[in-house]
Amino acid sequence: MKLFDLHCDTLLECLTKGKSLFQNDLQLSVERGLAYFPWVQCFAVFIPDNKRGESASRLFDDAADLLEREASLHPEIVLVRDRKQIDRLSQGQCGAILTVESGAAMRGSLEQLRHLHRRGVRMITLTWNGANELGGGVRAPGTLTAFGREAVREMERLSIAIDLSHASERLFYAVAEQTSGPLVASHSDSRTLCSHPRNLTDEQFCLIRDRGGLVGLNFCPDFLRNGGNAGIEDLYRHAEHFLSLGGEDVLAMGSDFDGTPLPNGISGVQSMEKIAAFFSRQGCSEELIQKIFFENACQFFRKL
Ligand SMILES: [Zn+2]
Repeated sequence: MKLFDLHCDTLLECLTKGKSLFQNDLQLSVERGLAYFPWVQCFAVFIPDNKRGESASRLFDDAADLLEREASLHPEIVLVRDRKQIDRLSQGQCGAILTVESGAAMRGSLEQLRHLHRRGVRMITLTWNGANELGGGVRAPGTLTAFGREAVREMERLSIAIDLSHASERLFYAVAEQTSGPLVASHSDSRTLCSHPRNLTDEQFCLIRDRGGLVGLNFCPDFLRNGGNAGIEDLYRHAEHFLSLGGEDVLAMGSDFDGTPLPNGISGVQSMEKIAAFFSRQGCSEELIQKIFFENACQFFRKL
C-alpha cells in the first residue's frame, strides 16, 4: 500500500524522550512505516507557543539535527529536499519531508526562514494555537502581521507550502488574500461534522479546493466527534463530507501521530492499511483510496 502522510509530531517526541525515530514504541516508527511503498512522511518540528526567539530556533535546529542523524544511521530514511526524489524512492525507504509547526521557528526573520529552507523545510504551519510573529492561531484570533505578509511572500518564492492548520479564521482569509498559490491544511477535519475550532468550515475547505491545495484528515478524536470517543467510522464520515464538497483531488492524510490520542481501532502508523480497508468497504474505489492515501499529496509536492 502507498502512503503519504502530511503531519506527525514524532520527531519532537523522539527529541524530548531520547527515543530513536527508526525503532521505538511511539505511534510512529520508521521501521513499522516501511511496510508501505512508496512511503512519504512529513516530520514536523513542533514549536510550542512558549518558545520564542533563540529558544524556538534552537529547538528547530536540534530536531533537524536529530532527523539528519537518524538518516545517516539508517539509510532507509531519505531526506526529501528535491521533489524528484519522491519518484525515486524504492521499497524499504522512508521519504522524509521536514516541516515546521509554528512559524515561531523563523523568530521574525526572513534570513532565518531561508535557513529553515536550506535545512530542508518544505512546509510550514504558520502558527500553533496561540499568536506568534506571523499572526494568530485558533486560541488567539489575530490576523496576518506585517512580518507575516513578508514571510508568506518569501515562502511562495522558496516553494515552501503554506499550511493553515491551527490558523485563526482571520489569519486564514488574510493569507488567502495575500497569496495566489495553493494552500494546505495539513491536519484538520470538518467543522460541519465536529464543531472544534481546529476544524475547517465548508467555505475554508472549498477555498483550499479552488486553489489546488490539500487537506489532511486528522486522527484526533476531539476533532472527529463532538465529545471525543471517535472511531475509524468517524474518520470516514469526515472524508465522505469533504468528498461531497468536491474534494476528490484535495483530500489526504494528516494523522498527527504522536501529537494526539488516537481513535478506537487505530494504534499507529501500522493501522493505515486497516483504515484503507474500512474506506474500501464503505464503497471507495481503489483509485479514490490511492488518491486520499498517497496520490493527491504526491501530486501537490511534485508541483510545488
Ligand atoms: Zn498540530
